[in-house]
Amino acid sequence: MSRYPTELLALISHLKKLPGVGRKTAERFAFYLLEWPEDEIKKFANQLQTLKEKVYPCGNCGSLMEQAKCHFCDVQKRDGSILCLVSSPRDVYAIEETKVFKGVYHVIGALLSPLEGRSIERLNLEKLEKRLSEHPIQEVIIAFDSTLEGDATALFLKQRLDKLGIKATRLAFGLPMGSSLDFVDYGTLEKAFTGRHHF
Ligand SMILES: [Zn+2]
Repeated sequence: MSRYPTELLALISHLKKLPGVGRKTAERFAFYLLEWPEDEIKKFANQLQTLKEKVYPCGNCGSLMEQAKCHFCDVQKRDGSILCLVSSPRDVYAIEETKVFKGVYHVIGALLSPLEGRSIERLNLEKLEKRLSEHPIQEVIIAFDSTLEGDATALFLKQRLDKLGIKATRLAFGLPMGSSLDFVDYGTLEKAFTGRHHF
């Protein structure tokens, strides 16, 4: 079998980095893209190129923003005394969909995973602890995936929060073991919020 042209191979190897995309799917996508009209390809390429300039994490909470001001940090409109801890900016949108949470967010960026060598240094704790010391936050809701990593990280953070004298609650109700927040339907997530508990 003759080899694919180099440029096509390079495209395939980029596509393979996407979650859930194996070699076969990456090849199918690459050939599909080759069929696209040139102006569509250019628009797509342009979109990719400017994505990170236009969408970036808020320096305070880590949620995504595209203007000078983060609307998730606007305490005129949101309750600054209750903070929800999530592992990824994507979870913020899943929680917003439920409309039950009106507080502020903090994205810690990664979960602890001793098996993959992801340790405490990977969590953005300094920023979180600074925020907790500077603002009168009464409750921290830990909204991590219901996985081993989520549980380990929640337990670790709860101990830190206990030391700071801050009440920590965790989503529990209705979240099946092993589930990640993006895959849970909004009704289940809403129940998980209202049924949050001390741990
Ligand atoms: Zn923010």
